[in-house]
Amino acid sequence: MKNLPLLLISLLLSLSLSSQAAPISHEPPYKVLATVHPLALMAASLVETEQLSVLLPPGMTPHDFSLRPSDIDVIQSADVIIWSGAQAEPYLSGFARRWPDKIWIDVSQLRAEGQPNDGHWWFSPAMMVRAQQQLANALELPAGNFAADVDAALQRAEQLLAPLRSRGFFVFHRAYDHWVQAMQLNQVGAFTLSPEQKPGMKTLQRMRDQLTSGEVVCVFSEPEFSPALVQSVVRGLDVKQGELDPVASHISVTKTGYPDFIQDLSQRFATCLSPD
Ligand SMILES: [Zn+2]
Repeated sequence: MKNLPLLLISLLLSLSLSSQAAPISHEPPYKVLATVHPLALMAASLVETEQLSVLLPPGMTPHDFSLRPSDIDVIQSADVIIWSGAQAEPYLSGFARRWPDKIWIDVSQLRAEGQPNDGHWWFSPAMMVRAQQQLANALELPAGNFAADVDAALQRAEQLLAPLRSRGFFVFHRAYDHWVQAMQLNQVGAFTLSPEQKPGMKTLQRMRDQLTSGEVVCVFSEPEFSPALVQSVVRGLDVKQGELDPVASHISVTKTGYPDFIQDLSQRFATCLSPD
């Protein structure tokens, strides 16, 4: 009996320690966090919108994002995090190491050999099909019609864009290489590599020459940036203009969000590249 207090103390101590170490709820339904809107479009094929959140505010790209304290709570409360990898989203790599008990789906790991090293992975439909399969495995859910729906959207894109493959165009920033490669389109150049860099006079003059020669028939701007730069380069020339949103803010997060995004993207390219 002399040992009882000691036993009690050690029992209480172990209880308090185990309650401290208790993980946040891992009972389904799981909370899924997509870092950017287009990754949420893919995830919504499997996850109810109430269980799905997006880290970056609408319209924001990883280029201009940094974490706020409230974002850390959002990351901590998620069970599954879908992100673009340490190179495109360096602000998350520390958390991926700190919380290894969460499921981290690093989309950059799903690229094929020869895939351009461009962190806008959601413009690669093949990678999004692989990411959705990985998410389905993580959630222990069937992958459903996602791959078939993406394939159908790609077949329509193929029909629209195959006759327009030789038509040259400029994009605003280098975000679309995966799509350009998948659809074998003729991207002649971009105003800037990433939106925070402004093009120099030499680049703008070369672009103006390419437009004048007829090598480029369409120029895309982006909704986040003033079209003034694009306007100044195309002024007085008979060139079509379109708009591409690299984070697809105008596409709703629904079960078919990602195939809808592919459909919308194909239509935007077809409209701008077609001769009439
Ligand atoms: Zn970008």
